[in-house]
Amino acid sequence: MDCIFCQIVSGKIPSDVVHQDEEVIAFRDIKPQAPVHILVIPKRHIPSLAQLTEDELPVITHMVEVANQLAKREGIADRGYRLAINCGPEGGQLVPHLHLHLLGGRKLSDELG
Ligand code: 5GP
Ligand code: ZN
Repeated sequence: MDCIFCQIVSGKIPSDVVHQDEEVIAFRDIKPQAPVHILVIPKRHIPSLAQLTEDELPVITHMVEVANQLAKREGIADRGYRLAINCGPEGGQLVPHLHLHLLGGRKLSDELG
């Protein structure tokens, strides 16, 4: 239980929560890389995309659905935004608990990596 995002789910580590339901929680990134930078994560601990089982696949759909709703609520849906999931060390994943980045509110880099 030393996973930092599991501790955010349980409330042990405070965070700026913007959405919560049975499956997922969304909160503002502590070190935002854009005016809107929200992380959408499954409540259950899934280490990364690479560890996702077939049974767990629907949570990705739900994470995208929540991110799309949040983009609307944050007023960036029309201007455009980016959803990103980093996977593993070379994919830039620092926290080993699956998370979807919602980034927007400025023109994002055309470079992806
Ligand atoms: P990754 O590089 O793993 O894809 O992204 C991890 C993200 O989690 C980073 O953008 C980082 O700023 C964010 N982060 C790490 N620790 C915390 C924390 O304790 N609280 C919040 N709100 N965000 C965190
Ligand atoms: Zn975790």
